[in-house]
Amino acid sequence: MEKNHFKEIEVNREINEECAVVGVFNNSDASKLAYFSLFSMQHRGQEACGISSSDGNRMHTIKDRGLVTGVFDDNKIATLCGDIAIGHTRYSTAGDDSILDAQPVYARYDLGEMAIVHNGNFTNAKSVRDKLIKKGAIFQTHMDTENLIHLIAKSDKDALLDRIIDGVQKVEGAYSLLFSNESQMFAIRDPHGFRPLSLGRVGEDGYIVASETCAFDLVGAKFIRDVRPGELLIFEKGKAPKSMQIAEPTPNHCIFEYVYFSRPDSTVFGKNVYSLRKEMGRTLAKESYVEADMVIPVPDGGVPAALGYAEESGIPFNMAIVRNHYVGRTFIEPTQEIRDLKVKMKLSPMSEVISGKRVIIIDDSIVRGTTSRQIVRMLKEAGAKEVHMRVSSPQITHSCYYGVDTPEKEKLIAHNYDTPTIANYIEADSLEYLSLDGLLNSCGRDLNYCTSCFDGNYVVEPENS
Ligand code: AMP
Repeated sequence: MEKNHFKEIEVNREINEECAVVGVFNNSDASKLAYFSLFSMQHRGQEACGISSSDGNRMHTIKDRGLVTGVFDDNKIATLCGDIAIGHTRYSTAGDDSILDAQPVYARYDLGEMAIVHNGNFTNAKSVRDKLIKKGAIFQTHMDTENLIHLIAKSDKDALLDRIIDGVQKVEGAYSLLFSNESQMFAIRDPHGFRPLSLGRVGEDGYIVASETCAFDLVGAKFIRDVRPGELLIFEKGKAPKSMQIAEPTPNHCIFEYVYFSRPDSTVFGKNVYSLRKEMGRTLAKESYVEADMVIPVPDGGVPAALGYAEESGIPFNMAIVRNHYVGRTFIEPTQEIRDLKVKMKLSPMSEVISGKRVIIIDDSIVRGTTSRQIVRMLKEAGAKEVHMRVSSPQITHSCYYGVDTPEKEKLIAHNYDTPTIANYIEADSLEYLSLDGLLNSCGRDLNYCTSCFDGNYVVEPENS
């Protein structure tokens, strides 16, 4: 009974989480630049990827399951001709139709061709989809992004720009979106600016829009500014990008981008991620100092915070857990047992360094508790005398409805148990989390953040919560 219940939740879930988007406009190497940009943002999604290009007359799309380097090669990039390209990498999926759920979402409609890529989640996806289905729409994917295709195709406005505005005004939640047709590109960010989206210059007179600035660094683009919350940018040949504010900005930037999701070398919401993570570690050391012989990060996510903790506490830093970077998918159902094995495949502690020592192990977050439990066990098996777990974010107690793949809250360990019980479960000698105040102080109080995964404070009420 319970098993079926969970299956239903999985199947009904709208899929479009933890993604990266990129758009390149007015560059003869557009698809190549999109490819390299997606490669640099692979951490935001490893399940599937795709690129649509426009050559002025026609659009070309290639998408498939797998990593960017596996899906594309020189021949495929060569078929993606033209000087406009939009691309996407996607994180995870429920169900096995996942190729259908790869992006860009491409369609032919009365005005011609269009493609969309989306990072985020529409919180009213179900009701919008239900209405569309009642009116006869036929859906091919599980993705909330497909709603927009229908809204645009059915809009009674004449120009694509007006139809996009019309469609976007009917969706709610988190969206950093890129659209292209045969000759134009459009970039839009939701009024809350949940997910990042930055604008840069590339080549002679080309533009690039990407989820993270690490993409700009790889392709030699120059950062101009972030796309503003509620802003629509229109890219047309021979013109400077035109900006329209289509909704009142009410920023609520996802603080989890800083905690875990973004690459440390990216500038997100105007701030360098690595520096903030180090600061979280320093604050954590001030809040929850414990005597120990060394500070060890859970690689890679815990490294900057562990450096900050070590600097602040004066306790030596040691890279005593080695990470195997070549672990991909196991192609086996993600049962609890497989999840345990996956952690062991990925992380290996050095007993020569750890044996007989009191260690502080630092990770950026605890979700289900599987990773921490495995790591504490590994450290004890490697001879650690004491293992103190410190986490550089607060307890994750609520699901995210804005594009981070957190499980249903019943599966979040901190939703169900208090910290001493979790410490006991993960078999640590002590466990402390960074306070929400400490996190906000570390990130700077000058911005408004979405902290819903830590406090359940949903600025846009999800319809299926
Ligand atoms: P868990 O084992 O479920 O407690 O997951 C915790 C680990 O997953 C930590 O090492 C985090 O760095 C990492 N993590 C946190 N959030 C996410 C996410 N949304 N997707 C994938 N991994 C995550």
